[in-house]
Amino acid sequence: MIIVLKTGATPEQINHICEKVKELGLTPQVSRGVERTIIGVIGEEAKIRVQPLEVYPGVERVMPIQKPYKLASREFRPESTVFTMANGVKVGGDQIVVMAGPCAVEGADVLMRIAGEVKKAGAAFLRGGAFKPRTSPYSFQGLGEEGLKYLREAGDRFGLLVVTEVMDTRTVELVSKYADMLQIGARNMQNFDLLKEVGVSKKPVLLKRGLSSTIQELLLSAEYLLSKGNFKVMLCERGIRTFETATRNTVDINAVPVLKEQTHLPVLVDPSHGTGKREYVIAVARAAVAAGADGIMVEVHDNPEEAKSDGPQSLYPEQCADLVRQLRPIATAIGRSL
Ligand code: PEP
Ligand code: MN
Repeated sequence: MIIVLKTGATPEQINHICEKVKELGLTPQVSRGVERTIIGVIGEEAKIRVQPLEVYPGVERVMPIQKPYKLASREFRPESTVFTMANGVKVGGDQIVVMAGPCAVEGADVLMRIAGEVKKAGAAFLRGGAFKPRTSPYSFQGLGEEGLKYLREAGDRFGLLVVTEVMDTRTVELVSKYADMLQIGARNMQNFDLLKEVGVSKKPVLLKRGLSSTIQELLLSAEYLLSKGNFKVMLCERGIRTFETATRNTVDINAVPVLKEQTHLPVLVDPSHGTGKREYVIAVARAAVAAGADGIMVEVHDNPEEAKSDGPQSLYPEQCADLVRQLRPIATAIGRSL
């Protein structure tokens, strides 16, 4: 249910309505837009039917939200969400953000070298996993806290924001200490306890679409974060499983315009995991920006042959620079910048 307020609704009226909503045992979420303010009401909607909220001063109308996700919907927040990172970089605004770095943090020196390269290429975020979700228990699992320290050092040295995966509720606090943005990986998209914990943490989040999840399921997972009060959420299309075997996954490019229509949350595309082959990464990144993505995440390694994970899909540093160069005119053509 959403309560659309009159254009001139006062802060006192808004507070009063929120108090009344709470008295009904429901949770109000205020969304202040440029044009008008909307209050989302979360909880059992039947309770509102016995107490019409239209009676309160400042209310224009009360409408049900048809979609199963509420706070993530465009109905709740018609304007696109733009959030500002610790260093002033905006996510979801006119500027397209590039996140780049190795699949996994493998060591201090190699990370430092790659970080310098991705900064030079024009990336705003350094990516890299310290806790790695690997299909096989015998594959490299990541350096853990040591890796987080290297990420922070490299981020600080080059003025890059750090985005890294958190896999477990027990490490949310630890990862939050080092990272600027918490990544929830494809395999954990429906780890509901993790979603709740990260929602409570209020750290900016990158939520990746599950390997076999629908767009609606992705939005319902985002709803978990939002319902805990964390609205700094970016969604990520990273390829889904299809019958096609020519590539590792199939990037659902349709997801970009669908998500932009259905939700106010910014959308990122990861063509590295999406294709699994470096030969295709730049082409798919171009398509993603043209389709309206708010950012791109790519894996970069200066010696992919020796990479501990995902070498075949990792760009060489000069390809990363080329990628940014190729994306710029596309961004400009659709009224954005990079
Ligand atoms: C990653 O980005 O490091 C990663 C493991 O990706 P995904 O969760 O999309 O497989
Ligand atoms: Mn990877």
